Parts: sequence; C-alpha cells; structure tokens
Amino acid sequence: MDKLLVTVSQAAVTQAERAIEACHRCSDRAEIPFSRVLHSFRRHYREDEVEYILPVLAQCPTCCGDVDENTVVQVKQNPSA
Ligand SMILES: [Zn+2]
Repeated sequence: MDKLLVTVSQAAVTQAERAIEACHRCSDRAEIPFSRVLHSFRRHYREDEVEYILPVLAQCPTCCGDVDENTVVQVKQNPSA
C-alpha cells in the first residue's frame, strides 16, 4: 500500500521542535525519528500509513543542527510522566 504523504504546517514543525531536547549528533540518548514526534500531534493517522513532508527544517535546540523527518532525536522528558 502506498503511504499517504502529509505536508505538515510550519506551526506543527515548530511545535514538534519544542518537544525535542537533542538530536543524535549531540546526544547518545536520541532514539526516535523526528517524524514520530510530529506524529504524536496528529493521532488521526496510523503511523505506518503516512509519511510526513516538512515545509522547513527544524533545528536541534542543543547543537543547532538541521532536523528533518528522518533525524533521530531525543524527546524532552515530561516531568509529569
Ligand atoms: Zn543536536
């Protein structure tokens, strides 16, 4: 089955960017692709059905490196979790 290509808004990229702490270049605890962070804000799709297209690259808050949908990132710890 072909994947559904979903273009996310710049606001969604910014929102997901705020949820990450670091990327694989600056942290050895990075373990999920950025697309999964985006996906966590869009639960009406099944994760294996969609592929996200970013209108802009996100930026790692720690090393300022470019983050695209395939970049492995570390998500911020949720203090209430
Ligand atoms: Zn980084």
